[in-house]
Amino acid sequence: MITLAEWLRPLIEARKARAEKATQGEWDLDGGSITNGHPVDQIVDWVYERADGEHIVENQPRQIIADCEYQLAELARHDRTHRCDWGDYHTPDRPCTPLKRLARIYRHRDPDGYADLAEDWEP
Ligand SMILES: [Zn+2]
Repeated sequence: MITLAEWLRPLIEARKARAEKATQGEWDLDGGSITNGHPVDQIVDWVYERADGEHIVENQPRQIIADCEYQLAELARHDRTHRCDWGDYHTPDRPCTPLKRLARIYRHRDPDGYADLAEDWEP
């Protein structure tokens, strides 16, 4: 059985890699389209709902890359035997609360894998 960190790391790395392959720059919602710094430099031709466009812009590649870098740094802090959670010792097969919280972010990307790992601590 893999550890929570072994399950989580490739999910974060794959998300970061997809964001790195996407068009870089300053994404902006311009009317109904999403542009990259200039009105003629379109990323998305048309978004029907403004809220969807705002959501896409807020999750543009540089934001996702930054999120993933933070998550990988947190993972590196909590993926080994360490003292955490009010001084308790945690091991890779006995994850701490911060690592469980980080894993919950990715539970929808692999629900079965998450359920197998989380069955010991999820309510
Ligand atoms: Zn920890």
